[in-house]
Amino acid sequence: MKTVVIGGGVVGLASAYELAVAGCDVTVLEAGQCGAGASHGNAAKVALAESTPVPAPGVLLQGIKWMLRPDSPLSIRPSVAPGYLKFLLRMATHCNARDFAAGLDLHLHLGSDANELFDEYQRQGIDFEMHDRGVLLAFETKERFDEHSASLAAFESAGHVFERLHGDAVRTAEPALSERIRHGLFFPADRQIEPDSLTRALVGKLQELGATVREGVSVNSFVRSGDTVTAVVTSDAEVITADAVVVAAGVPTSGLLAKLGQKVPIYSGKGYSIDYSPAPIELRTSLTLEDARVAVTPLNGTLRLAGTMEFGSRDDNVNGVRVEAIRRSAREAFHSWGEPVGEKAPWAGSRPMTPDGLPVIGRLDIAKNAYVNSGHSMLGLTLAPGSAKVLADVMLDRRPSLSPELLARISPNRF
Ligand SMILES: Cc1cc2nc3c(=O)[nH]c(=O)nc-3n(C[C@H](O)[C@H](O)[C@H](O)COP(=O)(O)OP(=O)(O)OC[C@H]3O[C@@H](n4cnc5c(N)ncnc54)[C@H](O)[C@@H]3O)c2cc1C
Repeated sequence: MKTVVIGGGVVGLASAYELAVAGCDVTVLEAGQCGAGASHGNAAKVALAESTPVPAPGVLLQGIKWMLRPDSPLSIRPSVAPGYLKFLLRMATHCNARDFAAGLDLHLHLGSDANELFDEYQRQGIDFEMHDRGVLLAFETKERFDEHSASLAAFESAGHVFERLHGDAVRTAEPALSERIRHGLFFPADRQIEPDSLTRALVGKLQELGATVREGVSVNSFVRSGDTVTAVVTSDAEVITADAVVVAAGVPTSGLLAKLGQKVPIYSGKGYSIDYSPAPIELRTSLTLEDARVAVTPLNGTLRLAGTMEFGSRDDNVNGVRVEAIRRSAREAFHSWGEPVGEKAPWAGSRPMTPDGLPVIGRLDIAKNAYVNSGHSMLGLTLAPGSAKVLADVMLDRRPSLSPELLARISPNRF
């Protein structure tokens, strides 16, 4: 089956890999450089411990309260663009306990074998930087700790092991933390993956498997014959025929699917990261500073800070005030942060967000050979291998690893 995958981010490349291994004749078309979109500067975490969906009770209300705070970790840009307003209103309807629990359950299923799948990638010769340092969720206040702990039962029943830490026990787990951090949850199984090394290695493996990976090729439209897509058309008017098409284009997925006549709301949730090389402090584990909502990830020779969720942005420009808030959170959380040398240029990227906080994986109702794999919001790296498997199950009529009820929850036809 000649399959065109649109988008060479971590999700598109993992999808292409799964399909190539299954014997499909795969071509990846990437508008820019593979791995250079949202996948490039993310927090580098296989964030199993942080699989909660973005629409949580009170989240949008908090965003609205913070609207006038230029350095807040969550921001909703005011805009009257009708699609964006509808997206926010839709998200508001999912900010309740029931949908939050259902979303977490879905993520826990989709990510359940993430570590095993990444191990399998490495066994297959996909060579990338991975660490198993676990993650420490670090809290300043008991209030935030208790709020977060409300979702722990779901993690427990999904088999996740974690440890509750209070007072000095937090510093025993991570000696670099300052007195400001009073509470912690340590999840030992969480991993860290340097995302560029993963996307680079996936491209290499795809080429080894005989797949074609083309960079600088932007898909502009589709050729259809009845309910079948027969080709994609690039911005250079090149027509590339296909038996099946997978749209895995991050935030632009929504615009591409609209050209096929299917509405799938995916909007940007902009975030930032800053790399320090050499790392200013030694860490035993990766962390999330929960009050500031900043991830701190030690990688080979580098420390990465990442954070902020900005709705309504139309570009990947860096907002200096938000970046400074990320730096400040590190200064406050670590006693010997100092004035680090080796800070690299801050990066901004757009997470593909959906109104219900769940990914979009499956076949489109409006075309029998068009599929989508996108909308992974804060968890694209974590969920990429699992999502690729689910997509391949659906495309190749294999026995799906997810139940029909879970598949319906991530279907592109749910909107
Ligand atoms: C600050 C930040 C921190 C994050 N931290 C984590 C984390 O720790 N763990 C985690 O699991 N996730 C994290 N994420 C989320 C994760 O990075 C994303 O969910 C993931 O990268 C999405 O991957 P993707 O392949 O869908 O999109 P992208 O990486 O954006 O890739 C889409 C690709 O499609 C291409 N494309 C677009 N339009 C076209 C077209 N018309 N034709 C051809 N190609 C096209 C783009 O050029 C791009 O390369 C974070 C994100 C951010 C911003």
